[in-house]
Amino acid sequence: MKTIITGDRPTGRLHLGHYFGSLENRVKMQYDYDTYILIADVQALTDNFENPEKVRNNVHELVLDYLAAGIDPKHTHIYIQSYIPEVAELTVYFSNLVTVSRLYRNPTTKHEVGQKTELFGTEGESITYGFLGYPVSQAADITALDGDIVPVGEDQVPHIEQTREIVRKFNAIYGPTFKEPEAVLSSNPRIKGLDGNDKMGKSLGNAIYLADDEEAITKKVMGAITDPNKIKKDDPANPEICMVYYYHKLLKNPNLDTVCKECKAGCRGCVACKRELIQLMLAFLKPIQEKRKYYEDHPEEVKKILEEGTEAARIRAKEVMKRVRKNMKLDYFE
Ligand code: SF4
Repeated sequence: MKTIITGDRPTGRLHLGHYFGSLENRVKMQYDYDTYILIADVQALTDNFENPEKVRNNVHELVLDYLAAGIDPKHTHIYIQSYIPEVAELTVYFSNLVTVSRLYRNPTTKHEVGQKTELFGTEGESITYGFLGYPVSQAADITALDGDIVPVGEDQVPHIEQTREIVRKFNAIYGPTFKEPEAVLSSNPRIKGLDGNDKMGKSLGNAIYLADDEEAITKKVMGAITDPNKIKKDDPANPEICMVYYYHKLLKNPNLDTVCKECKAGCRGCVACKRELIQLMLAFLKPIQEKRKYYEDHPEEVKKILEEGTEAARIRAKEVMKRVRKNMKLDYFE
């Protein structure tokens, strides 16, 4: 069985963008692959190092969201990155194999460096060693567990390419040690926000969280961007440029054809259309939230799932590191 490595940074609750962008896929794939989901607390600290409380508190929330969304601990190991010291060790070995200029050339890093420079001033002052080295530690996360497949969004593809480069270089110098992991693009790599933004994100303020209640959902959907040319209730409109329609589609409204036809014909008001979407969203989130509530009420069960997942990842990483140290001639006491 091939191994999938995937994960998230514990910096906030999960939203529909995460669900359709990756979680849905992970839930389906967990039955066919040996699945490891990494809670990337060390990586979260690269830009939250002054706020460890935030990272700590979100670990539990993240696990609740995973379990609520259908991640099954019988088929998936959920583990904490900082409890796998082998990853930190491997990151150090890998850091000799990547030049600083190569890290800067990574298109995703380049984009983020541009954003940070704009926000915080000159490049040197805003970019930490940890931030720049993020793709190197990601390479260690994947290879320390002998990962075959990494499901990713488009923006993460350059990081996986960098992992493959590191693997090739490592194998060329120290002998065959790792396999090259493969990036598998999620079928819905980027989910748009109700505000029309190309991406749903917590930092963009347009996220619909898996744990959102009816009041929060109503407020967000009622503020969604529709076809700006539709002024009156009976104006015909173009659903393809409407975010409400986009979400009707995403949530697989069984009346989608009717929504489309009525919108085009001008016999559907936007308020009614939004109300229908709210009901659809609530129905979609109901089983997820019920499951979340169960685990919220059983924290010991959640702790056990996390401990067992972390133990499984650790056993695997230790085995891989034996191989690494042997090939790097660092196996002094073996
Ligand atoms: Fe969008 Fe519905 Fe209004 Fe058409 S009727 S513009 S699909 S909200």
